[in-house]
Amino acid sequence: MRHLERIRKRVPAVHKRYPVTEGKRDEYFMRLALEQALTAEKSDEIPVGALVVLGGEIIGSGSNSPIGRNDPTAHAEVLALREAALTVNNYRLEGATVFSTLEPCVMCAGALVAARVERLVFAARDIRFGAVRSKFRLADSELLNHRIQIEEGLLAAECGELLRAFLERARQRSPSVSG
Ligand code: ZN
Repeated sequence: MRHLERIRKRVPAVHKRYPVTEGKRDEYFMRLALEQALTAEKSDEIPVGALVVLGGEIIGSGSNSPIGRNDPTAHAEVLALREAALTVNNYRLEGATVFSTLEPCVMCAGALVAARVERLVFAARDIRFGAVRSKFRLADSELLNHRIQIEEGLLAAECGELLRAFLERARQRSPSVSG
């Protein structure tokens, strides 16, 4: 459980700021995912954050960082899934819920299905790349052998605005940016 302790150490400040009250658990975790998105933003990465929760415990978290890591697969959801799988020492995350500030892309939706995640809660839709509602419906497709429960819209305004403002600033700096 070394991973679990490490994760707990990393989020004590946000734990204090968002006490969990009954019925607000999803919002609490989405706010922590939003903190991960802000971490990405500080490194000039597109601000997306994700968390994996199992049995009420955070077992993985991720900040979008493909540029910094020179890794096209380093999306918030993939990083969170990798950490979660290490935490529970299992490549399958049955019963887990993933919180993401943005609708997952094709790669991340595929990874969520491969991990057998039970539930996905995402904030804002990604109309250009979203693969669970906007462009494709990969995560609860009848064509695949595992279907994830999907809920969308929680803190969509905050998470979407963070992204919109970031992309707007990026466009002003370099008109060629097309995020
Ligand atoms: Zn992705």
